[in-house]
Amino acid sequence: MKVLVLNCGSSSIKYKLYDDDRQLAEGLLEKIGTAQAQLNHMVAGRKKVVSVHEVLEHQAGIELILKVLVDPGKGVLTSIEDIQAVGHRVVHGAESFSESTLITPEVVAKIEECIDIAPLHNPPNLAGIYAISRLLPKVPQVAVFDTAFHQTMPDKAFTYAIPYVFYARNHIRKYGFHGTSHYFVAHEAAAMLGRTIDELKLITCHLGNGSSITAVDHGKSVDTSMGFTPLEGLPMGTRCGDIDPAVPLYIMGKEELNLQQINALLNKHSGVLGISGISNDFRTLEEEAGKGDKRATLALEVFCYKLKKYIGSYIAAMNGADAIVFTGGIGENSDVVREMVVKDMEFLGVELDADKNRAKKHDEAADISKPSSRIKVLVIPTNEELVIARDTRRVAAAN
Ligand code: ADP
Repeated sequence: MKVLVLNCGSSSIKYKLYDDDRQLAEGLLEKIGTAQAQLNHMVAGRKKVVSVHEVLEHQAGIELILKVLVDPGKGVLTSIEDIQAVGHRVVHGAESFSESTLITPEVVAKIEECIDIAPLHNPPNLAGIYAISRLLPKVPQVAVFDTAFHQTMPDKAFTYAIPYVFYARNHIRKYGFHGTSHYFVAHEAAAMLGRTIDELKLITCHLGNGSSITAVDHGKSVDTSMGFTPLEGLPMGTRCGDIDPAVPLYIMGKEELNLQQINALLNKHSGVLGISGISNDFRTLEEEAGKGDKRATLALEVFCYKLKKYIGSYIAAMNGADAIVFTGGIGENSDVVREMVVKDMEFLGVELDADKNRAKKHDEAADISKPSSRIKVLVIPTNEELVIARDTRRVAAAN
């Protein structure tokens, strides 16, 4: 079955076209809303095609992507009719969705209801859904939610200690994100360990521009570090992660900042960028730390220390762990971060093989722990689009 996977952000659309599990094409359209939108289109074994277009909104962007997919020179399809289903990444499904779902008018209405708690993410996801409904009205569409995998968290893990009425009335609770990635690498880890997911306790660390860590107990997410929004948890590229909630209140008073300004400060100017004053990119931070920059070093230390503490707390929460899994741009590529996080955890049964860690090749899954390590340390490349394609196939075939 040919499935188009769409990940629509506020000014970008990522896409991948699959035939069953085989990827036929992928691409990224950036700077939507301008006359300088750039399309990078890639087909395995061919040269990347880059083109610039005026693309003022998402529907025009998707029309352009469909056109390139059937282009006799650049495309991979003979007709647009070949697309049998479309899968959308939808960031927030709140408590309405605990699994991937066929998109119906009722489902669209529920995703629209979630705009209130995901004002940045759900509107562009919906724009993609509206556009496909108009452009390919007969094709089934499936929504795959970032929050769905975490819907198994128990009340004690997702409840905030604020007046309960805010949960009952305003749905304020921990939701968690990156669910598709945590789900994927947890299952890949089970396969690597030659065991079934329902006999394992896993700690999955998705470390990218946004970072989160999840405790996966017998295949179910039982706790995760992101919260009501993706701001909670680990410090990230530009997000602050966990801080004393009194801090923003204090800064707002001192600096006379309004809600938008404090929101931007915590989401866009904090994290390792805020600490280092240099960059949100871990490659740059490692380079500068290597040259002796103190704040770049501190930013890396704060990030890794926080991650180490989360790992310890999830081992306590699950009463043990079989493996710690690293994924995402940083988790897959930074041996420096992996070593800083898991070294000196022998007490808990984590023994890193430093040579294997350093030798791990890009795009390759690997066990980087010593044979004697009671808790294995795995690096597994994530593939969220593949999960979306598989779910879309399954749900579309069943309906
Ligand atoms: P996103 O969260 O947007 O999907 P990725 O998972 O691709 O992002 O992660 C991007 C981040 O990964 C970059 O900002 C960079 O900090 C980090 N990264 C990528 N390659 C390396 C590397 N070789 N060493 C250290 N960090 C890296």
